Amino acid sequence: MHSSVVVLGGGPGGYAAAFLAADEGLEVTIVEAEPRLGGTCLLRGCIPSKALLHVAKVIHEVEDLRAHWGVEYAGKPNIDIDKVRAQKDQVIKNLTGGLGNLAKRRKVNVIQARGTFVNSTTISLEGDHKSIPDDKQITFDHCILATGSVPAMPPAFDIGSDRVMDSTGALNLVDIPDTMLIVGGGYIGLEMASVYANLGSQITVVELAPSLLPGADPDLVKPLAKRIKKLCEDRVFTNTKVGSLAEVNHQIEVTFEGPEHYGHERYDRVLVSIGRRPVTRGLGLENTAVKVNERGFVECDDQQRTSDPHIMAIGDVAGDPMLAHKATHEGRVAAEVLAGKSSNFDKKAIPAVVFTDPEIAWAGITETEAKRDGVNVSVESYPWAASGRAQALGITEGLTKWLVDPESGRVVGCGIVGSGAGELIAEAALAIEMGCEVHDITDTVHPHPTLSETLMNAGEVHFGTATEIF
Ligand code: FAD
Repeated sequence: MHSSVVVLGGGPGGYAAAFLAADEGLEVTIVEAEPRLGGTCLLRGCIPSKALLHVAKVIHEVEDLRAHWGVEYAGKPNIDIDKVRAQKDQVIKNLTGGLGNLAKRRKVNVIQARGTFVNSTTISLEGDHKSIPDDKQITFDHCILATGSVPAMPPAFDIGSDRVMDSTGALNLVDIPDTMLIVGGGYIGLEMASVYANLGSQITVVELAPSLLPGADPDLVKPLAKRIKKLCEDRVFTNTKVGSLAEVNHQIEVTFEGPEHYGHERYDRVLVSIGRRPVTRGLGLENTAVKVNERGFVECDDQQRTSDPHIMAIGDVAGDPMLAHKATHEGRVAAEVLAGKSSNFDKKAIPAVVFTDPEIAWAGITETEAKRDGVNVSVESYPWAASGRAQALGITEGLTKWLVDPESGRVVGCGIVGSGAGELIAEAALAIEMGCEVHDITDTVHPHPTLSETLMNAGEVHFGTATEIF
């Protein structure tokens, strides 16, 4: 079988690239190992985690009503875990079913098989699905490599116990354990901590680095760290290494080494969320001219071309940040380049969101990066305590800040912590992408009373005109 374009991997990078290439009039085949399109994002990442975080947030808000507004509900919530799981699975089903229809409508051929490169223009197909051609291989003019990433699980933690989970296991929501250890205080670990703690588990979080969300701006992390500590009843330990894991009497015994936490403890379940690794091993890339760097990512240029003229790479496999919207955008660039357009990807304004409560979001350059790289920026911060809407909602721990290039007055970065930060950051991403100056933000009339006003107010801080009611 021959297809002008083969997309290897059907996640948000792969299916976006395939659909857009088909829209450009190209003949496209997706090779996906799993029975459903959607990849990590739809099946075991963004979507199921956000469905469960929704439940966690509502539980927290009900508790907030009780604590601050005198609205009492009778007792603790009674959680039917089977119904929660079923509803989450239904959300996934709705979305993946929709993708199958979109593929059909565009006449994108989908082969359910594990693909391995035989050479730069041939992929062998492993599996027994009826979509696989008899000769079990497909040739192509161009391939878009979109094999994504999988959770990193160091051999020392891989003890063959189903009580030790990665993010996929945690999202399966087998039960609500009494006690759970989360190894890794990055965004996935903290999102899962929020879910399980609100569902009723006693959570402990350990992080090797000196702070949660290593790499994020400390002023954004601070309110979240405070909330997570409260949620985990102070069982959040940074600067702490997990030494070993062992299954003992239906629990996991864990040893800790660190100034903040030392010794050993037992947990009903352990979630290992210490990062993800790109899927490049075992793909037969050695049979092509594709170069892989020391971290396992495929090297490619800003048009997603690899060092093999027949192969492009997009999404998690093509480097940081490992985010679905970055994968999708790279998929679009790859499809347009294959269609003969001169598209390229400027990564200056990719937003990142941590969907905890409060949320953290940033776009463009961060304050931490500016300090590290010696980039001169002025930082204009506006505390949500001064926002009428934040006061009304009781979410005054938030903060919105712009990073401004003092020479040009252009906004080059934005950071937000607070409820709904993930929605608010879209305005900042647009402003940075368009090269807006701060006055463009302050000249824009924002609706009142909304949290979006804090973007305008932080801009006004730059000119000394912000209304400071705090
Ligand atoms: P993937 O989605 O990983 O898809 C790759 C596909 O390739 C898979 O379907 C796989 O089966 C297939 N494949 C691999 N090898 C082969 C092969 N040899 N043959 C055939 N098929 C193959 N990102 C966000 O932007 N926002 C979020 O809120 C967010 N939350 C997340 C929460 C969790 C718990 C996790 C784990 C991830 C989250 N992410 C989030 C990250 C996001 O899921 C990834 O960045 C995104 O899925 C990457 O897309 P991709 O297309 O590059 O790869």
